[in-house]
Amino acid sequence: MKLNFLGSASSVGPLSLVIHYEDMSLIFDHGMLPADPPEYPLRPPLVDMGFLSHSHLDHCGMIPSLLRQNDIPILSTHPTVEVAELLLYDSLKIANIEGYPKHFEKIDIKNTKAAFDLVGYNSKRDIGGMEIEIHSAGHIPGSSMFELKGNDTTLFTGDINTKNARLIWGTHPVECDNLVMESTYSGENHEDRKETEKRFLDKIDDSLKAGGQVIVPVFAVGRTQEILMVLNDRDYNIWYDGMGRTVSRIYLNHGGFLRSPKALKNAMNNANEVRSPSTREEAKDAEVIVTTSGMVEGGPVLEYMRDIRKDPNSSILLTGYQVEGSNGRRLLDNGMIRDKGATLPVKCDIEKYDFSAHAGHDDLVEFAKGCDPENIILCHGEKREELADDLSEFEVYTPQEGEVVEL
Ligand SMILES: [Zn+2]
Ligand SMILES: [Zn+2]
Repeated sequence: MKLNFLGSASSVGPLSLVIHYEDMSLIFDHGMLPADPPEYPLRPPLVDMGFLSHSHLDHCGMIPSLLRQNDIPILSTHPTVEVAELLLYDSLKIANIEGYPKHFEKIDIKNTKAAFDLVGYNSKRDIGGMEIEIHSAGHIPGSSMFELKGNDTTLFTGDINTKNARLIWGTHPVECDNLVMESTYSGENHEDRKETEKRFLDKIDDSLKAGGQVIVPVFAVGRTQEILMVLNDRDYNIWYDGMGRTVSRIYLNHGGFLRSPKALKNAMNNANEVRSPSTREEAKDAEVIVTTSGMVEGGPVLEYMRDIRKDPNSSILLTGYQVEGSNGRRLLDNGMIRDKGATLPVKCDIEKYDFSAHAGHDDLVEFAKGCDPENIILCHGEKREELADDLSEFEVYTPQEGEVVEL
């Protein structure tokens, strides 16, 4: 077996992995990192079949470009395909606005949708004398790990979370010979989720008691829904806005991929959805506003910020990773945002809460040990050495992009 990462071996960038096994060439994810400028994987070779682990752009963002050269089926789950379609159209829109090079057109996204071969969790497929089994990855609804069973067994994890979240259950180890595992949080652990939720809700209580409002910038995919479910524990006047509204509907349509569709529905019913410009005006008086974008880069969040940024009693509670150069990072580091070309001060309280959907370092170590593999190939991480140190009882590989690992 030969493995060749076309992207995101040594960074949390656009993941793409080609596995050559017997006479088959298979591709796992083919992403694009939506940075400024965007990052892309290396050009793929001719392949026989594709697999998409989940709908985040760093995993799916270049699938339409891949399909321009390769007329192949891509195995994935229903919610992954629908949310990926939404994000792909959005990425094309951003490329047009920002003047980034376009690697595909709208028609290619349409063709991509037709190329998907839909699978459910725990289902199996026979492919060229090999059996493929699909497992839940616990990262976002529909996220999958792919297990390839030939003469030996190989597991590709995509992004994983082993801890239970409100929205979905955590994943479990799968025994295999070769483990290809993400390493995003190598060297870093998360605070206990219950503890994070409590601090987050207590902070909202404090801001409201002081007469302020709270803006919660969220990612559309997974985070909007998780935060609405956490907020459902208290009795706030909540409004939610942005692309998370559509994603929530997609998830409810595929309730089998959720921990509890009823709990998500309740959380959405407990909040008010912004449906028009006039309801957006109403939402500006809400106690809690949950809206995209998670890094305060675009989406309705900037409009809400214009209203409350001068109020020292109000709070902005970030709920995820803030990349260098983003407005979210600017807020955390300097209390400033960039809006329509101007850099403006923000007087509100600014805090960040770790609602990550990735396994932390210790979770990854435990997961890998539970898989009990012979070989571990670490990817999708900047500090893989720390994981490699803790997994030294196994044969660990930390390849670079373009480097071929032969097992
Ligand atoms: Zn992801
Ligand atoms: Zn990822």
